[in-house]
Amino acid sequence: MNATVASVTPRVARFLRDIIRIPSLSGEEKQVVARIAKELRALRVYDKVWTDRLGNVIGQWGRGPRALMLDAHIDTVGIGDRAQWAHDPYAALERKGVIYGRGAVDEKPAMACMAYAPLLLDPALKKHITIYVVGSVLEEDCDGYPLWHLITKEGVKPDWVVLGEPTDLQVYRGHRGRMEITISIKGKAAHGAHCDRGVNAIYRTAPIIREIEQLHKRLRRDALLGKGSVTIARIESTSPSLCSVADGCTLYLDRRLTRGETKASALAELRALPGVRAARAHVAVREYRSTAWTGLPVAQESYFPTSVSEDKQPLVQAGLRAAAAALPARPPKLGVWTFSTNGVATMGRLGIPTIGFAPGREELAHSVHEQVAIKDLAVATDFYAALVRELCA
Ligand SMILES: [Zn+2]
Repeated sequence: MNATVASVTPRVARFLRDIIRIPSLSGEEKQVVARIAKELRALRVYDKVWTDRLGNVIGQWGRGPRALMLDAHIDTVGIGDRAQWAHDPYAALERKGVIYGRGAVDEKPAMACMAYAPLLLDPALKKHITIYVVGSVLEEDCDGYPLWHLITKEGVKPDWVVLGEPTDLQVYRGHRGRMEITISIKGKAAHGAHCDRGVNAIYRTAPIIREIEQLHKRLRRDALLGKGSVTIARIESTSPSLCSVADGCTLYLDRRLTRGETKASALAELRALPGVRAARAHVAVREYRSTAWTGLPVAQESYFPTSVSEDKQPLVQAGLRAAAAALPARPPKLGVWTFSTNGVATMGRLGIPTIGFAPGREELAHSVHEQVAIKDLAVATDFYAALVRELCA
């Protein structure tokens, strides 16, 4: 007999509280991975549970010809200013059916629900589908990379992907892409006492700053994903001393890409700016470099393509039917995230149909108010199982 949602929900909630209590900053997920692997094994429904070279934890259920990946990233951002929290962010406080703490939205609830969803399924479906339940690492630092690694370097090949980023129990189908870009401007150092002998890199940067502010206003708007954007996140300069003319200046840009915008188009716009041309400034995509908890070095350019699954896509439609089954009181709606997700790899780079469904409100992610209702855990667990049935039908 398959378990019922009502019977598994208290166990989902208990497991969620356990994994909230284990801090798991990006690159420091070793302990939480061990805890999740232990839970998956203890459930005794998975055919295989393992950890890949990057440190993602994976539970495989079934050996059918088509494969569904249920992905929840299990790293979280830091807690910021502890004084702003009303309670210990790692205590996983439960009050009146709500669980609080870092990761209680983004996105440990999905991990707990996805882990338990196969308990609701008829084992006979194992012939028809393979489910990979993935707890992915490093997402907060380099969205997409963990699934890129799992799919292209570990040979786990899904036909469909469901992301556990918060959607407040709606079906989401994409988001804007993003890039981290640097603009480097060179000057010529001289003693500050005779500064006219130098070329001040900061002065050469000034017109570029204003041009970027104007460029933002001109960027493309898309009815589904919203507007592309660019903003300067940081500025750095160099000089031989504080008694010198600045010989270098670097701008760090956050660029959000809407539908139709690409890496090439975003770089070309910046390179065409009059101030960039006049200063012969160097425009480049930043390199992301880090080390996974397993010790594996990670490097990737900081370009995260736009990700959209079309609304007619069979996975999107199956998602809507599963949402209607799991939450009959609320007609399912399609939506998109404002932030970027592991979908940049699965949909954006690899073209694998990808949707999102999870409890929790997106606007609470990374905030001191992260919280999830236990009744929403029940809906999400039910949804993941209902989606599998839809995909097998
Ligand atoms: Zn997230």
